[in-house]
Amino acid sequence: MHVTVLGAGTMGHGIAQVSAMAGHEVTLRDIESGIVEEGIDAIRSNLDGGVERGKVTEAEKAATLGRITGETDLATAVGGADLVAEAVPEDLDIKTDVLTDAEDVADGDAVLATNTSSLSVTELASSLERPGNLIGLHFFNPVHIMSLVEVVVGERTDESTRAFGIEFVEGIDKTPVVVRDVPGFASSRLGVALGVEAVRMVEEGVASPRDIDNAMELGYNHPMGPLELTDVVGLDVRLDILEYLRTELGERFKPPQLLKRKVRAGKLGRKSGEGFYVWEDGEAVAMSGAWDR
Ligand code: NAD
Repeated sequence: MHVTVLGAGTMGHGIAQVSAMAGHEVTLRDIESGIVEEGIDAIRSNLDGGVERGKVTEAEKAATLGRITGETDLATAVGGADLVAEAVPEDLDIKTDVLTDAEDVADGDAVLATNTSSLSVTELASSLERPGNLIGLHFFNPVHIMSLVEVVVGERTDESTRAFGIEFVEGIDKTPVVVRDVPGFASSRLGVALGVEAVRMVEEGVASPRDIDNAMELGYNHPMGPLELTDVVGLDVRLDILEYLRTELGERFKPPQLLKRKVRAGKLGRKSGEGFYVWEDGEAVAMSGAWDR
């Protein structure tokens, strides 16, 4: 199978990696060659980590990288693909443009997938000529580690597309959870609710980010606390999701000022080096400044 991934950022490079590891030919497309290269470098570094931990052999690493091609031209990237999965920013207009442009140059029977965390798959499909071909494949971060994929079935998603989505997810060794196309699906709604309350607690000076995260990690056995997870997801990504859920589900999802302030300051979490924590080499090494309390 040929899988094309649109967007080589946090999620896109991960989707490309797991698809290639499962034996699919993969094209990774972004708007600039430098970003595509960064995505492929991130895959290489994930695979190096896998080799160090004894989870991936050198041969598997080489074969995986050998199946991935970087591309900036949309028509070249999408032509001949069986699955075109987008992982571009969480913005209805950007995603609509990317999906309609991809559909124009894709094969007629290609399945289109969106990695949206919260937008309506049905609404995204409404601009397409073949809305039945679109499905939500909602991966989790980091994609090569997390085994869950929500398969989001829109109002107009064809049964064959639904079956393709489930089969694809199982084929890349992930566990599909099939959900209706409702705001926040099954996971984001609960995850974001916890994250937003944690940000409000920092804002109100209830406790430090590390203590709040420790409370959930040690008291509830969460592998990662809600603030560190917000840093890993990206504060900008979380803010976009919150704004959308607020319009759909009401004021309980109102974004806290602290989150907006950090995004405006470019403190986007792990990817920018600082969010609720300061990050070095992928590790949270300290809490972000005291002014945040
Ligand atoms: P990101 O900002 O890391 O990456 C987005 C990439 O898309 C960037 O490299 C950007 O250059 C590229 N891009 C923009 N316009 C493009 C276009 N027209 N064609 C191709 N590439 C284009 O974002 P991300 O965190 O990877 O999020 C992507 C999607 O995945 C969003 O919908 C987000 O909600 C969803 N998601 C994110 C997470 C997470 O933890 N970050 C988890 C699940 C789902």
